[in-house]
Amino acid sequence: MAAEASPAATDYDRPRTTCPLCDGGPLVRRLIDFRGHGIDRCRGCGVEFMNPQYSDAALQRFYAGYINLHPDDAKAATFRSRPATRLAGKQRGLELLHQHATGRRVLMVGCGDGLELQVAKANGWQPEGYDVDPTTTAAVAEREGVPVHCGDFHLLPGRVAPFDALWLDQVIEHPKDPGRYLATCRALLRPGGVLYLGMPNLGSLSNRLKTLADRCGLRRRAGRHFNTRHHLTFFRPSVLVRYLRERLGMDVLLVRTSPKPQRNPLVALLGRCGPLFDSSFVVVARRR
Ligand SMILES: [Zn+2]
Repeated sequence: MAAEASPAATDYDRPRTTCPLCDGGPLVRRLIDFRGHGIDRCRGCGVEFMNPQYSDAALQRFYAGYINLHPDDAKAATFRSRPATRLAGKQRGLELLHQHATGRRVLMVGCGDGLELQVAKANGWQPEGYDVDPTTTAAVAEREGVPVHCGDFHLLPGRVAPFDALWLDQVIEHPKDPGRYLATCRALLRPGGVLYLGMPNLGSLSNRLKTLADRCGLRRRAGRHFNTRHHLTFFRPSVLVRYLRERLGMDVLLVRTSPKPQRNPLVALLGRCGPLFDSSFVVVARRR
């Protein structure tokens, strides 16, 4: 995976025959992206995913170098990755979470370079973090002065006290077992605890049109918007909401466009009408 142009066959698992979200099917092929990755849809739950998926070894290699603890200067960064944009996005997301959560113990899953832990702490939360790379998590824990867990995510419920809130901002599209991941998130919440999920929106108007164009063979870099360099599962808001309600028995409190700053004022304005016009969306759900 490090050499993007020519991944080795050993970088992939055997093709999946069941859905990584609902474990059912049947699966249908939507398209093959410009990297040669298949994109399948589960007819059972509606989720789309890369098939075959990366091997554990390939993912481990990728994430060891994924998080940049020393971001480039603001001029070189894209609008979305600029420190000021990221900071405002985290701040606004936490405000949304605060409107629905009671209690201030929050587990921030996929806490990366620790910015969200910093923002949470500054806003009166008691954050703990989780991420996959031991070196990065140790450095972030030391710098931020908060516990940052590492290791097998699914073992975490037995090791920590339940949380008032869980925060996953641009995370759930990364693991190859999103169904099990969401179940573990639920298990990490106390009854009444609240889950915040922010992720790319496969159901946005722009992504729907891109998928349609790709299926008609109209774009040179087909499936670029799936971003299979590091995204494995692709959600539409309706698919995620149904899964949280029907499979995990959670109450969905909020579905909306991402609270992050938008460079385009028109997108910001249209975003008020719902998540159709934004390339990412947020869901807040409560454990009963
Ligand atoms: Zn499914």
